[in-house]
Amino acid sequence: MEEKKVVLKRKKKLVLKKKAFAFLIITILTIIILTIILVKIILNSKKLNLEYEKELNVSLNDKITNLDAIRKIKNGKILTKKKKINTTKIRKIKVTFEVEDYFKKKTKYHYIIIINDKEKPTIKYTKELETEEGKELDLLKDVIVEDNSREKITPTIEGEYDFNKAGEYKLFYVAKDSSKNEAREEFILKVTEKKIEKKVVEEKKENNSNRNKTSKGFDITTKNGVTYIGGYLIVNKTYSLPSSYGNGLTGETRNNFNRMKSAAKEENLDIFISSGYRSYNRQKTLYNNYVSNDGKEEADTYSARPGHSEHQSGLALDVNTVDDSFANTEEAKWLVENCYKYGFILRYPKGKSNETGYKYEPWHFRYVGEDLATKLYNNGNWITMENYFGITSTYK
Ligand SMILES: [Zn+2]
Repeated sequence: MEEKKVVLKRKKKLVLKKKAFAFLIITILTIIILTIILVKIILNSKKLNLEYEKELNVSLNDKITNLDAIRKIKNGKILTKKKKINTTKIRKIKVTFEVEDYFKKKTKYHYIIIINDKEKPTIKYTKELETEEGKELDLLKDVIVEDNSREKITPTIEGEYDFNKAGEYKLFYVAKDSSKNEAREEFILKVTEKKIEKKVVEEKKENNSNRNKTSKGFDITTKNGVTYIGGYLIVNKTYSLPSSYGNGLTGETRNNFNRMKSAAKEENLDIFISSGYRSYNRQKTLYNNYVSNDGKEEADTYSARPGHSEHQSGLALDVNTVDDSFANTEEAKWLVENCYKYGFILRYPKGKSNETGYKYEPWHFRYVGEDLATKLYNNGNWITMENYFGITSTYK
């Protein structure tokens, strides 16, 4: 009996020992797990938290820096210095910045800045214009177009109107920048009925000249046999000059040519007049020679009949080599893009012979003054005088 008791007591002791051991193991494991979790929490709280735009879209002339794409930074510092970004041109820029995290580890990040012109031009204009029947108004005269791209933009008019018909016309000014952002503003043109007394006075004033309109509403005036359209002297196949007209290049043409020549010289380009003023008789000799060589039909595509040559006006000139190959020279390329600044136009542009009546002449320039030249330049897509004024160029 006594022996049985002892065995039982031993067994109990062993069970207790085992229990204590298990408890110890569990406690140790728990401490290890808790320590790992704690360390992880601490490390996590010190981890770099960086948020930035991969692509930053900005407008032309926006004020931005190289660090503007960064939205948030925690547990780290930016090592790259703040710098201004030049946004005056439409382009893409790759930007790099360096960040040091809590553990002193340095990493480089990249993003792209896209500079775009998203703004449309602004048009300053008068909301309501008024004129009297038959009295033409220059609807673009006081219109100012401004754009963030700082380019020169010539507005156009959309809608139909007739200065010879009283009424109220709802029209639009349209201005487009080179990024195709378009501004459109509505304005009203009021054409009031003409008073009869005024008509008599105007007719008296014009007894020496003949007044008419082109298909685009410009005045056609003839004075002493010379035709002016919208105030500009016109010579083409439809409109001729009297045989007595002209005596050399006009002072304005010569002065502005010299200004243009100097500007070209600064670009190391040489521009010179190879043919300026041509008298009626000189043109007659030239044309008759061409006709006897090539026939009348062929001669008419490249040479003017006497009285129809723009060279007789003293406003036109041929530069450098009078040959198709001139178009490929640096001089020709510069002239096409810059001549308007000096009041000259490329008179016979490529692909416009159905308007001008002449094939492409990269060497022939006509002085019209800076205003009209800028309009016809049309951002490099030259408009012909015929198209602009709404006139023809065909022999009767
Ligand atoms: Zn010419």
